[in-house]
Amino acid sequence: MTGFVDKWDELIDWKKRWASEGNFFIEQLKARGVEKVLDVATGTGFHSVRLIEDGFETVSADGSAEMLAKAFANGQTYGGHILRVVQADWRYLNRDVHGSYDAIICLGNSFTHLFSERDRRKALAEFYAMLKHDGVLILDQRNYDALLDGQYGNSHTYYYCGDEVSAEPDHVDEGLARFRYQFPDQSQYYLNMFPLRKNYVRRLMREVGFQRVDTYGDFQETYQADEPDFFIHIAEKS
Ligand code: SAM
Repeated sequence: MTGFVDKWDELIDWKKRWASEGNFFIEQLKARGVEKVLDVATGTGFHSVRLIEDGFETVSADGSAEMLAKAFANGQTYGGHILRVVQADWRYLNRDVHGSYDAIICLGNSFTHLFSERDRRKALAEFYAMLKHDGVLILDQRNYDALLDGQYGNSHTYYYCGDEVSAEPDHVDEGLARFRYQFPDQSQYYLNMFPLRKNYVRRLMREVGFQRVDTYGDFQETYQADEPDFFIHIAEKS
């Protein structure tokens, strides 16, 4: 995983990634008057740095200390920012992260890393509890419905992550989506993910208490015109 992360960060230019992601989630936060944000899936810091650059008071959490170290270094590289990092597992978030937030973001197809429903419910309940009464959760996911329902054809379908890296489904069933990532130096990495169905995630969000869940399709990087590659859920507490 470490090698994968380093290669990924080396090749995926942040400025280009910012441009390709657009301003969608930043605009959603601003429209709601959000000031204080908890990034629960900091990874190497891409979204945290973007939030800080846009003036949000940001706390950067991740379950991995190694990721947080990279994020901290990236914060300094991209704009000389000092990230406020906290190591915390989503399932025990309230134990390790203090305060309450106007918004929580869980982006970059991160929620897919939980493989049991119990953990997904626990994590969402922890997110819910850390939000202020009118807080909002923004969580994105790959469009697994299209993959599971065969709308992307067969395993020859490629997902493009920039010009340099290609991701191809290697194995897909209702319990596992394994992707093969191919880098320009011909090295390959396999990542296992849980194939979240869009309506399943929406239901879980409502079941833990979110009053309203809006789901958007991100057409920005769509390879096929009519199906988004990603969904973005915006869950409101009140
Ligand atoms: N948002 C960043 C981006 O898009 O570049 C990083 C996303 S990265 C795919 C997912 C991150 O979620 C990893 O850094 C991983 O350590 C973290 N993560 C996965 N499961 C977690 C859990 N249960 N608790 C806390 N962090 C977790």
